[in-house]
Amino acid sequence: MLEKQIVEEFDKLIPEPKCELNYKSPYELLVAVILSAQCTDKRVNEVTENLFKTYNTPEKMITLSQDKLGKLIYSCGFYNAKSKAILEASKDIVDKFSGQVPSTMEELTSLRGVGRKTANVMISEAFKGDAFAVDTHVLRVSNRLGLTKNDNPDLVEQDLKKFFNQKNWSKLHYQMVLFGRYKCKAIKPDCAGCPFQKNCSYFADKKGK
Ligand code: SF4
Repeated sequence: MLEKQIVEEFDKLIPEPKCELNYKSPYELLVAVILSAQCTDKRVNEVTENLFKTYNTPEKMITLSQDKLGKLIYSCGFYNAKSKAILEASKDIVDKFSGQVPSTMEELTSLRGVGRKTANVMISEAFKGDAFAVDTHVLRVSNRLGLTKNDNPDLVEQDLKKFFNQKNWSKLHYQMVLFGRYKCKAIKPDCAGCPFQKNCSYFADKKGK
C-alpha cells in the first residue's frame, strides 16, 4: 500500500486523533506520559487529577519523598520506577532548565527518567513539532502493516519517518496508537471491515489457518 493510501485510510478511520491524557501544561504532560507506561490513560487521568491539585510544577513535585510520591501514583503500577523517574526528571528541569520543560530531543532526553518515546510525545503534543513516538501500539500496527521489520522502537521510528511525509508524523502517531488500542489489538484484533486486510501479515496468517 502506498504512503498516500495509508494516510487516507487512517484519516477516514480516525479523522481527529487526540491525546487521551489530561494535562494543563508541558510539565503535567511529561508526568502523565511517564505514568502511562504499561498503564491505561484512563487510570493515569484518575491519578493525575488528584496529584496535580497540589504537585503540578517540578518545584512542588520535588518537595515529595519518593516514598510519598510512590503512594500517590501506586495504582499506575511500577510505582518505584515511575516515582524515581518523575523526581529525577523534575530535579533536572529545576536545576538545568530553570523549571521549564525543554522542547528539543537532545534536551528532553538529557533529563533523567525521560527516554526517546516520552521525548517524542512531548515534542509532538506539547510543542506541536514533528515527531513519531513509537509505543507498543505503533510497534504492533507498523509490523502488521509491513511498514517495518524491526522490533526495536528506535529502528521502527526511523523506518516510519522514512516512509511517511514529515507533516504527517505526529498525526499518524496518534492514529496508530488509537487504532492499535481499540481495533488492531494485540489479542483478537477486530479485523472485520479493516481497510488494511490486504496488507496485513496478521490477517494473512489468520486466513491461512
Ligand atoms: S486486518 Fe486486523 S490485524 Fe490487520 S491491521 Fe486490520 S485490524 Fe489489525
